[in-house]
Amino acid sequence: MDTTGPDTDSSGTLVCKACAHADAHGWWGTDLPAESHCQDCHRYWRSHREAHCASCCRHFASNAAFDAHRVGDDCNDPAALARQDGRPRFARRETRLGSVWSLVNYRELPDFDALG
Ligand SMILES: [Zn+2]
Ligand SMILES: [Zn+2]
Ligand SMILES: [Zn+2]
Repeated sequence: MDTTGPDTDSSGTLVCKACAHADAHGWWGTDLPAESHCQDCHRYWRSHREAHCASCCRHFASNAAFDAHRVGDDCNDPAALARQDGRPRFARRETRLGSVWSLVNYRELPDFDALG
């Protein structure tokens, strides 16, 4: 159950508290699970080091990871990107606020299979 996404009112209309607040006040307000928010997918995120793609709404742990999924003006599916040795370039982590893609550092994670 996703408790951080937008709610719907009794008529089924999408109600996002953060976006409603931004419309009214020009900023997200303080009553958020995290300090940043996307008006397209209504995802929240916490750290300014993280990067949210305004084109595909995928979310990345770092600017380097964000850059790696972009080719020119296009977005690549991180799950489909592989390194030259054939191993996946990205790992996806599920957090309370949603999925986060990060670049796999195989030097730090020599036993990647152990992650399951
Ligand atoms: Zn929103
Ligand atoms: Zn993208
Ligand atoms: Zn988004």
